[in-house]
Amino acid sequence: MKYDVVIVGGGVSGTALLYTLCRYTNIRSIGLIEKYNDFGQVNSSATMNSQTLHFGDIETNYTLEKAKKVKRSADMVMKYLENEKVKNPEEKLFIKVPKMVLAVGKEQVDTLRERYVPFGQLFPKLKMIGKEEIGRIEPRILKGRDPEQELLALVTEDGYTVDFGRLSHSFVKNAKKENPSISLYLSTRVTRIFKNGDSYTLITDKGEIDASAVIVTAGSHSLKIAKSLGYGKNYSILSMSGSFYTGPKVLNGKVYTMQVAKLPFAAVHGDPEVNDENITRFGPTAKPIFFLERYNSSTFFEYWKTFGISIKPILSILKISSDKVIFNYLLKNVIYDIPGIGKRLFLKEVRKIVPGIKANEISFAKRIGGTRPQIINNTTRKLELGEAKITGEKIIFNITPSPGASTCLGNAFEDTIKLMEFLGNMYSFNRELFEKDLVNQPETPRKKHRVDTKVPMIHSIK
Ligand SMILES: Cc1cc2nc3c(=O)[nH]c(=O)nc-3n(C[C@H](O)[C@H](O)[C@H](O)COP(=O)(O)OP(=O)(O)OC[C@H]3O[C@@H](n4cnc5c(N)ncnc54)[C@H](O)[C@@H]3O)c2cc1C
Repeated sequence: MKYDVVIVGGGVSGTALLYTLCRYTNIRSIGLIEKYNDFGQVNSSATMNSQTLHFGDIETNYTLEKAKKVKRSADMVMKYLENEKVKNPEEKLFIKVPKMVLAVGKEQVDTLRERYVPFGQLFPKLKMIGKEEIGRIEPRILKGRDPEQELLALVTEDGYTVDFGRLSHSFVKNAKKENPSISLYLSTRVTRIFKNGDSYTLITDKGEIDASAVIVTAGSHSLKIAKSLGYGKNYSILSMSGSFYTGPKVLNGKVYTMQVAKLPFAAVHGDPEVNDENITRFGPTAKPIFFLERYNSSTFFEYWKTFGISIKPILSILKISSDKVIFNYLLKNVIYDIPGIGKRLFLKEVRKIVPGIKANEISFAKRIGGTRPQIINNTTRKLELGEAKITGEKIIFNITPSPGASTCLGNAFEDTIKLMEFLGNMYSFNRELFEKDLVNQPETPRKKHRVDTKVPMIHSIK
């Protein structure tokens, strides 16, 4: 069987692309191959990630440039979710809660206040609030806290908590409505891809499939497949598993803490669970593991193939971990997963958000949390923030650590433009319709939005 396009991987990235191709292009011959028996079972599953639609407003390790890019993509997912809610309210793809980033102590407060100037311009709904308002939204942040401690927060009502696994199913359902002729190969694993003249042959455990163009959205496996075709040789993966601790409902919304700028992971946060708001999840931690997929020991050898057995990635790891901040962070995070001592240490992080929480209120969440394929650039010997896209000859590889779920439609948009080129412009992409459906119209002139950094009073709690 030969297709114009074959997508490898049925997580939120692959299914977002499938939907985009079916609704917004006239390509009809499309196949999607997924090795598990359902979509969104790996990192996109609701049990594997933090369920946050990241816009860049409360992620304090994002630069303004990064936030602008992520916001455009997250807006697309937000619009898709809101449109679906109107059409299928019973589907429950997301819940909407308040969302804030909390600064504790003078140093963090000063940093956050400064950050608010440019970020308040980019995110007009973001408000800066002081202690009283924080306590009104999240009473448990103040309960049991030292009254002298300075607090400041940036808050927004747009706290989208998303079941990205369910979103993958929604994309597939709507793709099928637009183009019933697509082929979905579940329980089919791609074992090898090779170039076959002007097209590609994909060898699977169920037989061979040919494609004029291929998009690999296989999460951390994407780099392994890229390397087998001679691409991405200068990259390795640091597989950073993330665990969570869960407790009762102590927060009304998402509360993020301030992150150190050089760390490419979200700082510990507390979030309501999308499918049960009575559970609060704290995390994720960030511990290196030697698997491409968490809880799947058969990916051990694949991990090392992806890492690359040579001196270059080892030198990169040594350079990265020689940074004191990164080393201490990694060490602390390894300890978080150790029974007993881990919980006691992690409790200190949780108490930055909920000071009065008791040790017996939280417990380690078993088999919750996937692993993020953080990119190591072996040329710069640095850890890169966010996703990577490797573009080859009529083939693209998407490697998707956080915020890969939030940027799924943005990625699909970029890949669709590229696909038109790959297929010799024989097909068309209805960008106008895509933008009408999924891209926010420009907001009212920014001039009217005054960012006042003096608004909140810093009160002590009496
Ligand atoms: C702890 C943690 C917290 C996170 N929090 C957030 C968050 O709050 N917000 C956010 O936006 N992102 C978050 N992320 C990142 C997010 O989960 C991922 O970026 C996103 O799910 C990636 O989707 P994907 O479809 O690219 O990959 P995946 O969901 O991993 O899907 C890849 C698919 O490819 C399939 N596959 C792999 N190899 C093959 C093969 N050889 N043949 C056939 N199929 C194959 C897999 O089975 C899988 O279904 C988090 C990640 C972790 C681990």
